[in-house]
Amino acid sequence: MALIGCGFFAQNHLHSWASIPEVEIVAVCDRDAAKAEAAKQSFGAARAYTDAAEMFAAEKLDFVDIATTMQTHLALVEMAAARGVHVIVQKPLAPSFADCQTIVDTCAKAGVRLMVHENFRFQSPILAARRVLAEGRIGRPHYCQASFRSGYDVFSGQPYLATEKRFILIDLGIHILDVCRSIMGEAETLYCQTQHINPKIAGEDVATSLIRHVGGGVSVVDCSYASRRLPEPFPQTLLRIEGEHGTIELLEGYRLRVTSHGEVTEENVEPETLSWTQKPWHVLQESVLNLQRHWVDSWRKGAAPETSGTDNLRTYALVMAAYQSAESGSIVTLAS
Ligand code: NAD
Repeated sequence: MALIGCGFFAQNHLHSWASIPEVEIVAVCDRDAAKAEAAKQSFGAARAYTDAAEMFAAEKLDFVDIATTMQTHLALVEMAAARGVHVIVQKPLAPSFADCQTIVDTCAKAGVRLMVHENFRFQSPILAARRVLAEGRIGRPHYCQASFRSGYDVFSGQPYLATEKRFILIDLGIHILDVCRSIMGEAETLYCQTQHINPKIAGEDVATSLIRHVGGGVSVVDCSYASRRLPEPFPQTLLRIEGEHGTIELLEGYRLRVTSHGEVTEENVEPETLSWTQKPWHVLQESVLNLQRHWVDSWRKGAAPETSGTDNLRTYALVMAAYQSAESGSIVTLAS
């Protein structure tokens, strides 16, 4: 495989690929020659490129992992699909729904597999909560709160986020809305309020959404990068899922508390740190490995990955509906 975009977050992709035995990192590519060369040296890739077209022409690849920012995704996917190379693309898939749809259609037409790097639902504490739900211990869920509230300075590692007119919903909300979808299913209607608290950034940094799901469930999805509180909970996603027989709570400090038929159990679901992960990032870093492992496993089984392009269009639609609702002040009904 080859990785395109050797920036901030791609280091986690590289560490994860390096620890999956079935995968060989053949080439790396970044417009910035120094970053490409550093990735090549650190992860034992055979070759480094600064031009993706040149790389596709020279290499024989099974798949490519695109970890650049969203403006470049469509052009890179088109290059891969034209050569029959399977694709993983970081979220957000593209800057517009139309471009996301083009990416999905391009891969379908070329017959290449497409997975979106939507990793939050693969965080081990969230997987643990989803497992309890799937076991039926709380019955059918009718309410979910998925919450990410932090004051962490994300702009130090990702300075481009400070200048985006649309910030928290498209960057972080997309993950939390996806986690909510993975628990509660598809949405019928959505209402959202956004706030712009930090005057030093261009976009909204707080977003609160209320969703009604197909089947009648209701969710609150709240995200903030303007929450000043100690201890700083970054980057924990908290959950409260209520069903007919009980409640699943993913609480701060990675405590999973399950009330089921009047009995309460609590366990620590914090992931161990790996040789290349560091607290407090470990939960995110490990989810990259879990997601990439899922890519290999689903491919081997001939199954579509959970976060296929088609699946991710539905999460992306929730983000667009949230912006539309916040801008219009009205409830948005999601199209089929
Ligand atoms: P970054 O700017 O640090 O890295 C992007 C790299 O891509 C840069 O080194 C840039 O030179 C390179 N690049 C851009 N266009 C290129 C092209 N056409 N060919 C080759 N190289 C190219 O950005 P980042 O913060 O690492 O974010 C990258 C992506 O990862 C974004 O889509 C972001 O939303 C996503 N991300 C996801 C998570 C997550 O948890 N899933 C976390 C952080 C970032």
